[in-house]
Amino acid sequence: MIIDGKKTAAKLRVAIKKKISELKKSINSVPGLSVILIGEDPASKIYVKNKEKFSKEVGINSEIIKYPQNIEQNIVLNKIKELNQNNKVSGILVQLPLPKHIDKKKIIETILPSKDVDGFHPVNVGNLSSGYESNVPCTPLGCFLLLKEVESDLKGKHAIVIGRSNLNGKPMAQLLLKENCTVTIAHSKTKNLKSECSRADIIIAAVGKPKLVKADWVKSQAIVIDVGINKTDAGIVGDVDFDEVSKNVRAITPVPGGVGPMTIACLLHNTVECFKRANS
Ligand code: NAP
Repeated sequence: MIIDGKKTAAKLRVAIKKKISELKKSINSVPGLSVILIGEDPASKIYVKNKEKFSKEVGINSEIIKYPQNIEQNIVLNKIKELNQNNKVSGILVQLPLPKHIDKKKIIETILPSKDVDGFHPVNVGNLSSGYESNVPCTPLGCFLLLKEVESDLKGKHAIVIGRSNLNGKPMAQLLLKENCTVTIAHSKTKNLKSECSRADIIIAAVGKPKLVKADWVKSQAIVIDVGINKTDAGIVGDVDFDEVSKNVRAITPVPGGVGPMTIACLLHNTVECFKRANS
């Protein structure tokens, strides 16, 4: 089974649009998302444009606040503080990566946890790891929803998450733990990754190494979620050798068309959740 991320993301957006129109009727207001974009990074510009496009599609009021590459950090921090106070803004996102002179940690910590739609604020990270309600980072949340499309009961499954970034690997592992999986987290210092993978019912690859996961690393009937986006001479490929691995698994996400489309859909979901909590 090839897990169709585009289709699942489209389904999620339809559900979000419906929810927003219901909320509009009951509280006469809609969620707002403010995205701060610093500099001219081409990939960031595309991501932000898509975030705006899909926000509009589902009925979220979105605004992009653009700053030049050399903007002073204080101006950005003051803008975030202003957005924190604005009750028309349900969610705030600062597009990463940031220029070197801007302190990412400070930026993330200035966003109110209740408006942190990326789920990067330490309060949200702590809530997720304590099993409390929190904003969950969009890409791992997308992976989780794709996984649940294939297997609703993850209890007792052995999952391996390859990669331990704050963006992907760590929150992914927390989501799986919350579902009662037995979780292995692998990273660049892990010894014998092949044998670790070959025991897993679920493999989440979030590494950034083209086709790292090979067919003979993967148990037959495993579910494989590929987060990787790697530019190669042959085009964009994931962290999993899709052509070979897909022959012998229960389900697998393609790259592109797997996890990628879910990330923005989950951002919209998080924005609506922030709005709902602010109005409850
Ligand atoms: P990252 O911050 O660079 O983290 C990579 C992780 O992989 C690190 O924990 C690193 O270990 C580990 N690693 C590196 N080489 C390894 C190896 N040979 N064996 C095992 N583990 C290894 O990357 P990221 O931000 O999590 O992103 C991972 C991938 O996902 C990238 O390709 C990125 O483009 C993609 N991505 C996709 C989406 C999407 O929407 N689909 C969103 C975000 C990112 P150490 O901790 O030991 O260094």
